[in-house]
Amino acid sequence: METKDLMKKATMFHGHLCPGVAIGVLAAKFFLKYGFEHSPDEELVAVVETNNCSVDALQAILSTTYGKGNLIHHDYGKNNYTLYSRRKQKAIRLSLKPSIFEDKKLSRDEKIQKLLSLEPEQIFTIKEVEYDPPSMATIEDSVPCEVCGELTMSSRIMNYQNSNMCIPCYKQFKK
Ligand SMILES: [Zn+2]
Ligand SMILES: [Zn+2]
Repeated sequence: METKDLMKKATMFHGHLCPGVAIGVLAAKFFLKYGFEHSPDEELVAVVETNNCSVDALQAILSTTYGKGNLIHHDYGKNNYTLYSRRKQKAIRLSLKPSIFEDKKLSRDEKIQKLLSLEPEQIFTIKEVEYDPPSMATIEDSVPCEVCGELTMSSRIMNYQNSNMCIPCYKQFKK
């Protein structure tokens, strides 16, 4: 797919057009070109080091999503994107080059246009990295919290004074 089409898909999901989404689109474009196909289940794992707009492009295009658990966020505030393929058993890390917005006078629209005219290799430092993938998500039973009655995944239930409690209720009692 061309950048323009990928951009359309990502913008629809994200809600607006912005430089962040353009960066994410270029990252996704690189991974697709590299043969990391989009991930209906947990074939891919994305590890992102930012929570900015760019991450939505990966979710929209590669289907590495928060809901499926194959999007892992480290809150480091860096435009770094690592993608692991379970099939290839390989991880590639993209890191945004510092020189990208050296020209500080660029407007938001100019930044978007500039990004969309470039290829991923021009904006990212790309390297293969070691990555130990998380185990696949499992389906867990939920049980009602004995305090508020709300269904809670059993792995998140706290036992306090012989009662099974959800985390918010447990925090109330512990105060
Ligand atoms: Zn945005
Ligand atoms: Zn509760």
